[in-house]
Amino acid sequence: MTNYDTVIIGAGMSGLAAGIRLAMFDQKVCILEKHKVPGGLNSYYERQGRKLDVGLHAMTNFACKGERGRPLTKLLKQLRIPYEKLELSQQNFSRIHFPGYNISFSNDPQLLTKEIEKNFPQQKDHVARLLELVRNFDDVNLDNKPQSAKEKVREIITDENLLEMLFCPLLIYGSAWENDMDFSQFVIMFKSIYLEGFSRPQNGVRTIINLLLEKYKQLGGELRLGTGIKKIDIENGSVQGVTLDSGEKIQAKKVMSSIGLPETMNIVSEKSDASPPGNMSFTETILFFDKKPVDFGIKETIIFYNNHEKYDYKKAEDFCDYRSAVICFPNNFGCDDYDEGLIRVTFIANFEKWNELDRPTYLQRKKEVRDEAMALITKLFPEFRANLLYHDVFTPKTITRYTGHLKGAVYGTTRKARDGRTSIKNLFICGTDQGFLGIVGAMLSGISMANLHCLMNGDKT
Ligand SMILES: Cc1cc2nc3c(=O)[nH]c(=O)nc-3n(C[C@H](O)[C@H](O)[C@H](O)COP(=O)(O)OP(=O)(O)OC[C@H]3O[C@@H](n4cnc5c(N)ncnc54)[C@H](O)[C@@H]3O)c2cc1C
Repeated sequence: MTNYDTVIIGAGMSGLAAGIRLAMFDQKVCILEKHKVPGGLNSYYERQGRKLDVGLHAMTNFACKGERGRPLTKLLKQLRIPYEKLELSQQNFSRIHFPGYNISFSNDPQLLTKEIEKNFPQQKDHVARLLELVRNFDDVNLDNKPQSAKEKVREIITDENLLEMLFCPLLIYGSAWENDMDFSQFVIMFKSIYLEGFSRPQNGVRTIINLLLEKYKQLGGELRLGTGIKKIDIENGSVQGVTLDSGEKIQAKKVMSSIGLPETMNIVSEKSDASPPGNMSFTETILFFDKKPVDFGIKETIIFYNNHEKYDYKKAEDFCDYRSAVICFPNNFGCDDYDEGLIRVTFIANFEKWNELDRPTYLQRKKEVRDEAMALITKLFPEFRANLLYHDVFTPKTITRYTGHLKGAVYGTTRKARDGRTSIKNLFICGTDQGFLGIVGAMLSGISMANLHCLMNGDKT
């Protein structure tokens, strides 16, 4: 039986990044991935010759080449991947749209402060104080205790409309909590979206996944796709290895799981406490058109839309909550590599409602989601008149089916294992449920958890 130093469960962003770090320091490491294609929540597929990204709207944490102190710079250094290989192009600008207010922001944080001053002049000094707090807070300290971000930010930002607007992109791009988020997560997201900003690699998420795969294989790491793990084998409270769906057993000194904390505890062979999966799931509608958004004067890269005063970031009561959405225009990054117009629309959804449908009703409901997405685009941009060439809609049920995340919870459980430890010796968590989310966050999580738990001191530069 093969005996590995570390087995990693899942070939998403965090699992691949963890694998690279371990292989780099000569560990015998194997990544086991249930699906035939790597990437997890941020994978890709092809339909009718069109390349579709599952998750990618934008990569957060933009940094220019070599910019010091930036998460992206640190990440690439740790993975030994040259910056140029990502071929990043920056967003034009994005916009938060609330009734009566519009706030635009770009990768230059001054645009955000100017827009806030224009819309909320009385909050100018308050925002300066918030920025100071955010800049000085040690957001990645693994010992930070969870605390309500809204409570803390309300001590500074006294206009509720502004507060709701500032929280909107941060919640929908990275909170497992409903209508609030952990303050450390707030700071991470604030920096990554408002202070650093959005970009997109040429050819989308494939570029990132291929770079990670290439690096991992060069370093001698093993990857087995189409290899689901049925059970994590424990003896006397300590990891022994894993049992595959096929029944094959693999021994390992350590197991690093990226599949989520409740999902991991569900496949532990001894009884253990599992935190429940979170409630936040989404539908994603991907629409291809015969014309590009810019042909109709649409220049925004992403719009965070909300049509009522408060931004209700909680599980939808019905199949979807159409009162808010994220609308992404992937053509509107600096370099447009698509031949067709492309628009992605995300709605907050309800896993249980989608999960109980029979097949014909499920397909009918998906059509309704597409129609709502189209209606929202033409409501915001009445001049938009392009013909729909192809579309796909995926639901919370699709997310569970293709990534194993319980209840389609994209941001995992509300109780994160920030230090990556579990109640079982040598079983660790990385990725979504360690608490660092998104493409950059998940990769940083994989790196930091591999460094902390699986590499000897001194191996980690
Ligand atoms: C619709 C959508 C839009 C998004 N947009 C963005 C965006 O614009 N920007 C951004 O930065 N982030 C975005 N994200 C979030 C981002 O995709 C995730 O935060 C990140 O990819 C999580 O990576 P991970 O490694 O933690 O987990 P995952 O990607 O979930 O990886 C876990 C892997 O484990 C595998 N697995 C599960 N169970 C088993 C098992 N039993 N055995 C073996 N393998 C198993 C899964 O198949 C999966 O590949 C989006 C996500 C979604 C769904």
